[in-house]
Amino acid sequence: MRLYHYACHHERALLLREGMIRPWSQRFLGWSDALCWFTDLAVPTRAALGLNEDECDRTAYRFTIDNETWIVPWREYRAEVHPAAIEAVEGVAGALPNRWWVSEHPVILHSGAVRTRQIEVAR
Ligand SMILES: [Zn+2]
Repeated sequence: MRLYHYACHHERALLLREGMIRPWSQRFLGWSDALCWFTDLAVPTRAALGLNEDECDRTAYRFTIDNETWIVPWREYRAEVHPAAIEAVEGVAGALPNRWWVSEHPVILHSGAVRTRQIEVAR
């Protein structure tokens, strides 16, 4: 299995600068843990990742993850999450929560990001 992290151009710049993906607060969803999010979807859609339409295209760039040590399937992690918060992230029409992974720890990046539009072209 190969995992990916998708980012907008703002987040891409931050991740390249830091060389890692840091967990960020999920408080807006009503729980206190900080998480990084991943998926095994090699070609993403916003809906599949549970992303609402917003100004940034948060599927614009794809980072490939080489170290999955701290990463667990969302379907296991969600057992500890309040049902209302689960509904908030999984409730987007077309969301594919079985394809999501999370980490409570930073994940080191070993390579740069690929533009997802180029992935589509290369298929
Ligand atoms: Zn952005």
